[in-house]
Amino acid sequence: MSGGGMAVGGGLGGLVLLLLISALTGQNPADLVNSVGTSSDTVAPGAVPADDPQAQFVSVVLADTEKTWGRLFSESRSGYEAPILVLFSGATQSACGLGQSAMGPFYCPSDQKVYLDLSFFKELDERFGAPGDFAQAYVVAHEIGHHVQTLTGLSSRLQTARQRAGERESNALSVRQELQADCYAGVWGHYAAQEGLLEPGDAEEGLRAAAAIGDDRLQRQSQGTVVPESFTHGSSEQRVEWLRRGLESGSVDSCNTFQ
Ligand SMILES: [Zn+2]
Repeated sequence: MSGGGMAVGGGLGGLVLLLLISALTGQNPADLVNSVGTSSDTVAPGAVPADDPQAQFVSVVLADTEKTWGRLFSESRSGYEAPILVLFSGATQSACGLGQSAMGPFYCPSDQKVYLDLSFFKELDERFGAPGDFAQAYVVAHEIGHHVQTLTGLSSRLQTARQRAGERESNALSVRQELQADCYAGVWGHYAAQEGLLEPGDAEEGLRAAAAIGDDRLQRQSQGTVVPESFTHGSSEQRVEWLRRGLESGSVDSCNTFQ
């Protein structure tokens, strides 16, 4: 996210590089299925079938994040404006450029949309060893965390700061932003648990997913070595720690990763 409207996070950091290779070698982005909808109208006809269980699951998670963040925003700030969810397959245009499945889920601040290829969930399970519905919910809630950062103005302040910073410092700021999105995902999870939406073991699924996509683990898998200065999302330990913090406290104030 160094450029003007670049996507935040690519969702899952080193994954971008990792999967880009497979995309370059075989994926055909031409079978473009572009389904745009809001959380109340999640899937456009002709794209992902409306009765697709995963699409339905994502829309349930999204609706619940709206409820939670709507309430949290009304306590301290003006209203919460929900983002739009775009389910796509292969590739899709976004205000942040071409979005591709290989990038993993991402949020684009310029159009305030969350872009998600449902096939990522399979990847999460089979490639990263993080199966389960709450692992998937965490991924969605993390992207919603970036939307919250956009609404609070943090994203644009950080973007300015990162443009002035050197690479190392810019990466460090990115890590803080990503860890905060993890913590925000945890805050949502805290209230989801209170509502009885979580099953036993769900929190562990989320924490396992957070560990699976830490920069150190991804770098070790893809290049065999770990270069902390190049981290943009945080180590497995950090990601688990901040997700857990949000989950346990349910407090936005506990998510100050910039202190
Ligand atoms: Zn992110």
